[in-house]
Amino acid sequence: MNEWFRQLSNLPGIPGHEKKVAAFIKKVVTPMVDHVDQDQLGSVIATKKGTTDVTIMLSAHMDEVGFLISSIEASGMVRMQPVGGWWGHVMLAQVFLITTRSGKTVEGIVGSKPPHGMPAEVRNRVIDIKDMFLDIGCASKEDVLALGIQIGDMVTPKMDARRLNDSKLLLGKAWDDRVCCGVQLEVLKRLEKKTIVPNVVAAFTVQEEIGLRGAKTSSYKIQPDIALALDVTMSNDMPGVPKADTALGKGVALSLMDATVIAHRGLLDAVEKVAIQEKIKYTYDMMVVGGTDAGEIHKQRDGVITMTLSLPCRYFHSHTSLVHEDDIEAMVQLIVAYLEQFKPEHVAQLAASKFED
Ligand SMILES: [Zn+2]
Repeated sequence: MNEWFRQLSNLPGIPGHEKKVAAFIKKVVTPMVDHVDQDQLGSVIATKKGTTDVTIMLSAHMDEVGFLISSIEASGMVRMQPVGGWWGHVMLAQVFLITTRSGKTVEGIVGSKPPHGMPAEVRNRVIDIKDMFLDIGCASKEDVLALGIQIGDMVTPKMDARRLNDSKLLLGKAWDDRVCCGVQLEVLKRLEKKTIVPNVVAAFTVQEEIGLRGAKTSSYKIQPDIALALDVTMSNDMPGVPKADTALGKGVALSLMDATVIAHRGLLDAVEKVAIQEKIKYTYDMMVVGGTDAGEIHKQRDGVITMTLSLPCRYFHSHTSLVHEDDIEAMVQLIVAYLEQFKPEHVAQLAASKFED
């Protein structure tokens, strides 16, 4: 696995606490582009200048789902407030990492009341997150405070990203959406020495998981003509899921709609044409719940021509999500080809495609 991807997965960064991820991305991206900036919420904005004033925005979010410490009990156990979506099933007996104000990290294990002796109907239910606690091996509140831990500290899954056995599957936390942050870095790397028509502005956004907040502020700052949001989507290739439209290894998924955006039809057609011509593997994606940065970006000004490109992912919002390296490559190739082939007249053509028969 490329070292960028490993580091992107491993770094802690929940919504509003993306500083370490932002610092890493700024360091990597600065030599590849003309300008790097941040908006007031912290989204990193990397600009590669083109030969025209057309601006195409790419967007991938830096934040991952996690927790903030909400209370420290007299017993030394710590309670947590979820920040982003968590499913109780994937939390128990997992190792998490507290990052203190000074940047020190402390390991903890998520515990609950033991199942022994519980009535079946209680034992078989998903345990409510508010009934779970983080066990850091302390016997009193004083012991916890002595470690430098305070209410409001960030908690993230502890996992070292790696290849799963000898497969092409990459295992890690936070692939949602750090894998697409990696895709954006790879796209900029491949364009580094090339002259292209549009300005390419890659936004590494904050606070997506709690309502696409960084997408709103960064797209205001960027004022794009066209936008491609990049995010993971459910990989439907597992037992019990009726329709495997998206699957690991089947390529990049062109998102038709989710709960926050309908793909701009002209842009969808243009991107699909590039995929066919370049023989890049792709599927369609349709999600009835959830959204991506595109949900905010397309509502900027009087509307931005926008769609989402999705990367299939299994088990996201857990310690052990899986992505396929061929899908990453397909996504990179599709974006690079689209940007390289872009002509200035495409903006007017895309805008008109909304209204003409
Ligand atoms: Zn996401």
